[in-house]
Amino acid sequence: MRKVYLAKGREVRPLGGHPWIYQSDIARIEGEGKPGEVAEVLDARGRFLGRGYLNPGSQIAVRLLTWEDEAVEASLLRRRIVEAVERRRRLVAGTTAWRAVYGEGDRLPGLIVDRYGDLVVIQTLTAGMELFKEALVAILQEVLEPAGIYERNDAPARRLEGLDPRKGFLAGGGETARWIEEGGVAFLVDVATGQKTGFFLDQRENRVAVGALAAGREVLDAFCYSGGFGLHAAKGGARAVLGIDLSAEAVALAARNAERNGVGDRATFQAGNAFDGLRALQRAGRAFDLIVLDPPAFTRSRDAVAGALRGYKEINLRAMKLLRPGGILVTCSCSYHLDQETFLGVLQAAAADAGRRFHLRDYRTQARDHPILLGVRETQYLKCVILEVLG
Ligand code: SAH
Repeated sequence: MRKVYLAKGREVRPLGGHPWIYQSDIARIEGEGKPGEVAEVLDARGRFLGRGYLNPGSQIAVRLLTWEDEAVEASLLRRRIVEAVERRRRLVAGTTAWRAVYGEGDRLPGLIVDRYGDLVVIQTLTAGMELFKEALVAILQEVLEPAGIYERNDAPARRLEGLDPRKGFLAGGGETARWIEEGGVAFLVDVATGQKTGFFLDQRENRVAVGALAAGREVLDAFCYSGGFGLHAAKGGARAVLGIDLSAEAVALAARNAERNGVGDRATFQAGNAFDGLRALQRAGRAFDLIVLDPPAFTRSRDAVAGALRGYKEINLRAMKLLRPGGILVTCSCSYHLDQETFLGVLQAAAADAGRRFHLRDYRTQARDHPILLGVRETQYLKCVILEVLG
């Protein structure tokens, strides 16, 4: 097995339970191996720290799977997967779609497993997990007993690990679309063509929260995808819902979902750029009682944060101006590089420019099937702030 010796002082992060070893943490590597094969990590003095898989070509060169003196093999992965699934049984309810494995958050770095009814979707995002793919399929068949396992390995993150994009069934076959139900609302999910693995599971609990706030309100759902927040609002008794998304396919899907849920008469969806849409609504003198902003990550790197902040400020400022007195703004950011304090700062600046004051009603994060590991900051990325207009 290859041995990875860290530079002096670089053992602090792994000793604290963090799984990532960066290239810059490494003093030398002993032995030969293929990208993704298992390696042992030692500190500068040669003390054992843990085992994981090594890809010298990736910025994050090692991802640790264990801090014990045990083999990194299929039986360890199986144990972790069973643990993750059992945790979901305790934490997730009221849905037929859930994330069974959330990579680093479940101590299975590089592995995502989502469940949509009887279908399972898998992403192996690192060279190390890719080598375990066959073993993973066997484990998932045994533990989750799905009708099929679909590989959605077209995520851009794979390129950082030197992996090609791939898509298709690894087990079973047939239809790739399923109707799922979340908190009493039905959504059509196509695991082959949908965004991410088909649905934004991380917003489940926030969507349900919005459903409970919506009765009697006129709702704007900006960046609506297949209608997630807007349809929960409509089912929760919203007077009217308008959804906007850049993707024409998403909007068509949202309209179809609205019909299926029997709210087609109250929910309409428009294809277009939400920045322009918000401006047009303001010009037309429109107003809303509940606005949801759930944009895509405006930045994927630390360097582009400044531009992202301008984007967040603009949409929040426009939404704040569109709110009626007593109105509610549900505003989200899934940019990992934008921390909570900075996001609140942007909201405060937008409120000042809009000339409005708000109560901070609720401060929320990603759904519980995307577990956050204390001490592993990278496992938390979603921020969902609920504000209520004063006066
Ligand atoms: N709220 C959704 C998830 C939204 S994800 C849910 O609960 O399911 C972000 C969405 O923003 C994607 O559907 C993407 O198509 C859309 N999008 C990206 N850029 C956009 C833009 N400039 N204007 C409107 N929508 C955009």
